Amino acid sequence: MHAVAATARWTAAARAEESRREDAIFTDPYAEHLAGQEGTTLFARYDNPGVGAFIAIRTRYLDDVIRERAGRLTSAGRPGLGQVVLLAAGMDTRSVRLPWPPGTVLYELDQADLLAEKDKRLAELGARHACDRRPVGADLTGDWPRALREAGWDPSAPTLWVAEGLLFYLPEPAARRLLERAAEAGAPGSVLAGDLLSHQSMISEFSKEGLRRLTEDGCPWLFGTDEPEAFLSGCGWRVTELRMPGEDGASYGRWPWNPPLPREARGFPQNFLFVAARA
Ligand code: SAM
Repeated sequence: MHAVAATARWTAAARAEESRREDAIFTDPYAEHLAGQEGTTLFARYDNPGVGAFIAIRTRYLDDVIRERAGRLTSAGRPGLGQVVLLAAGMDTRSVRLPWPPGTVLYELDQADLLAEKDKRLAELGARHACDRRPVGADLTGDWPRALREAGWDPSAPTLWVAEGLLFYLPEPAARRLLERAAEAGAPGSVLAGDLLSHQSMISEFSKEGLRRLTEDGCPWLFGTDEPEAFLSGCGWRVTELRMPGEDGASYGRWPWNPPLPREARGFPQNFLFVAARA
């Protein structure tokens, strides 16, 4: 398993931390077991102001996008986005914790060993999937569309693609290729939601130490952009919504800085949450 797999335990630990709060903005009762001691240790190791808050906000933001879009009925009464693909699902537990409209198929792509470990841990907890959930072991820099098709994914029906906590672990050309392939492979009406890191985050004094630790652990951030709309448009996706944490619709009372830094601010780490339509 590639070292970047450990980051899935880190984000699970962040979800466990949020779930323990009285005012939690979502509850993931499986996260603690999925994170394990390794995740808890990494959560402490990568701790930096705003990191835990951002992961919590990102989880809730994408929960809401999925709730709104997945299984939405078309005028013909058929599910609009009846198939959802988590690009790099990691220890994501939406298959068990979200209410899924009947008939929704959820594909979870990630490294095969990681998905097997997750299944084992979910089984230990007696978790039951609330949708037709299909784990697909695949390298997201390889021919993952073929693996997806073999698992039953239908390229002729629109798809909700979710790229959460992934794109900055790929070199820029690989991130581009991944999103281009999703745009080319998916049917009209498909939607992409996810997050991007800014280029500022790669060079800011404030993220230097965290990035050093990630690099030491073999899973550095490799790519960030200060022009998320242009980047996504170049990959075949037209941004329909873009939020930075702390902004209206992406705060949930969790962001520590109010008001949030303006987008033009330089020298500070920044993240973008987005929803995009196939261009
Ligand atoms: N989306 C999940 C979340 O938010 O908790 C997981 C995010 S985790 C930070 C990054 C994930 O990307 C890991 O699960 C890792 O295995 C996966 N990943 C990174 N590069 C990959 C690749 N080339 N192929 C498959 N999975 C990859």
